[in-house]
Amino acid sequence: MARVLILGGTAEARRLAERLSARGDLAVTLSLAGRTATPAPQPVPVRIGGFGGVAGLARYLADESIDAVIDATHPYAAAISANTAAAAHRASVPRLVVCRPPWIATAGDRWTEVGDVGAAVRALGEAPRRVFVTLGRNELAPFLAAPQHHYLVRSVDPVDPPLALPHVGYVTGRGPFKEADDRALMQAHRVEVLIAKNSGGGATYGKIAAARALGIEVLLLRRPPTPPAPAVATVEEAMAWLDHALTSATARGV
Ligand code: NAP
Repeated sequence: MARVLILGGTAEARRLAERLSARGDLAVTLSLAGRTATPAPQPVPVRIGGFGGVAGLARYLADESIDAVIDATHPYAAAISANTAAAAHRASVPRLVVCRPPWIATAGDRWTEVGDVGAAVRALGEAPRRVFVTLGRNELAPFLAAPQHHYLVRSVDPVDPPLALPHVGYVTGRGPFKEADDRALMQAHRVEVLIAKNSGGGATYGKIAAARALGIEVLLLRRPPTPPAPAVATVEEAMAWLDHALTSATARGV
């Protein structure tokens, strides 16, 4: 049985695990960081929590005799992707990155790209604005520097403790989100500017389409750079890569 590690936390990782779980020739483990309180159910055995940096992950790959590692983490999860690149190299394990293509601006979009959350906060300016924030709940500290704005924060789990800001509302939810629902939410809260990551894919595109329809400005966090790797965009391509990688390893007698 070939042993495969999928680094997950995304819908792609779950779908890939689902497809691979149907195969009798593979033992698949899915790794999650453990960020969400109630992670979505997964179709294969799951391990949860950090590995302890590059050394810890390289040791895991060796101890578990992993034959291939698939980094299907979120495009903004830069640390784990860098660690996976270094650990796979160290342990001589073939590595693939599954990465959703970013959204591309289309007619009517009013996007400004910013380097990080702090830059997004500065781009809001001095005058009070009504801001829809769709970032991770652990990424919100920079907003404390701009208490004049009215914020609506959406996250998977509640923001706890709440932000020490005078004007902030919260909504929890896990995608997919529909455009019509996001449009209604943004209208109800009289949102003037949206702050988001360029996550790609369909599950969280509703807010982008809604912002376009409503003529709302979007401050879009630039994607972090990724270490060079064979990369694919879809689960199907990942399955083809895996077959090729495992066949090549067998042919080499590894
Ligand atoms: P990150 O900054 O790249 O990773 C920080 C540390 O968390 C890593 O060094 C690693 O700890 C641990 N880690 C991250 N992903 C892991 C995984 N799949 N399995 C085991 N350990 C993991 O990651 P992040 O941005 O906090 O994201 C955490 C997780 O949430 C990822 O799995 C990602 O796919 C998912 N996610 C992230 C975003 C986002 O916007 N960043 C959005 C949706 C989902 P050690 O160094 O100790 O190994």
